[in-house]
Amino acid sequence: MTSLADLPIRDDLRGQTPYGAPQKPVRIALNVNENTHPVPAEVIAHVTQAVERELRSINRYPDREFTALRKHLADYLGGGVTPAQVWAANGSNEVIQHILQAFGGPGRSVLGFPPTYSMHSIIASGTGTRWIAADRDDGYRITEATAVAAIDRHDPDLVFLCAPNNPTGTPLGLDVIEAVHDASRGIVMVDEAYAEFMPEGEPSALSLLEGRPRLVVSRTMSKAFAFAGGRLGYLAADPAVIDALRLVRLPYHLSALTQAAAVAALQHAPAMLATVGAIREQRDRLVVELARLGYDPHESWANFVLFGGVADPRGVFEYLLAHDILIRDLSIPNHLRVTAGTEAETTEFLEVLGRMGR
Ligand SMILES: *Cc1c(COP(=O)(O)O)cnc(C)c1O
Repeated sequence: MTSLADLPIRDDLRGQTPYGAPQKPVRIALNVNENTHPVPAEVIAHVTQAVERELRSINRYPDREFTALRKHLADYLGGGVTPAQVWAANGSNEVIQHILQAFGGPGRSVLGFPPTYSMHSIIASGTGTRWIAADRDDGYRITEATAVAAIDRHDPDLVFLCAPNNPTGTPLGLDVIEAVHDASRGIVMVDEAYAEFMPEGEPSALSLLEGRPRLVVSRTMSKAFAFAGGRLGYLAADPAVIDALRLVRLPYHLSALTQAAAVAALQHAPAMLATVGAIREQRDRLVVELARLGYDPHESWANFVLFGGVADPRGVFEYLLAHDILIRDLSIPNHLRVTAGTEAETTEFLEVLGRMGR
């Protein structure tokens, strides 16, 4: 047994810390923004059938081009997105890794706006891409002027946006995304992991794809779609971007079982998304009730709420954990983040937090 420091590891990986959301066996897990509602029985039955059918040819490599899955994902996205514009991988984390492998890498840079999804900088680091952190405006917002100034100053090879942003829940207007695209020369990725939780009728960056071949919109089945364990993330972009990603993916990266399970689940999209309205209600309730308890919740368009005014985040985190409730401490001073769960889970979280007092 040796230590990491004694291994001939890449110099740029020395001293780095891995992604580390605690995974603990608790009754109420509100820490990684999953859909906490049970998957409908009819979906489980159909996915099981599809996987079983696939097992009969499991001795063969899967369809490298995941043709059926790309068609189902394009249909799900709608808005004229075609299968040729769709890419998928084992979670949107792998999709993002493909983007950085193709468009980033040693000698190149990616600009992001922390606090944002921690995996953006971690995947940058893993692919040898320099991460540039730009500032946000008040209330974690990003104005056009702020974003464009950061791009002019740093001239990055890629820009990562997150809309709505994790961990703050902050919405991002399409006008800002357009301005970022026009000001930059590189790939602009909009991470829309939480798009389904936006207010009804709010447009997605998908509507900007036409005529913008450097724009990429990433999505995932891990959040609203209640399929985190299935590991399926995807993106929509110009077909030429998809050709670039083919150069860096490993052959057969999506297993036959993953493809079959995801296709089957997508055929039940309305059932899988049936809880989105209820989750939005619990999110809005969290904002109201956390304020009533004296905390400082931020506006959220996602399925979680970041709240400030926490004198001792570690203490509150541990108190909740002692009551079998897991939330997230992201090391933002005086802040914690909680996922909107079922009504019962949200009630219990609020009750335990209320009992603790401030
Ligand atoms: C949860 C999350 C993802 C999802 O990652 P998967 O690999 O698809 O599970 C992507 N982006 C953001 C901003 C997230 O919060």
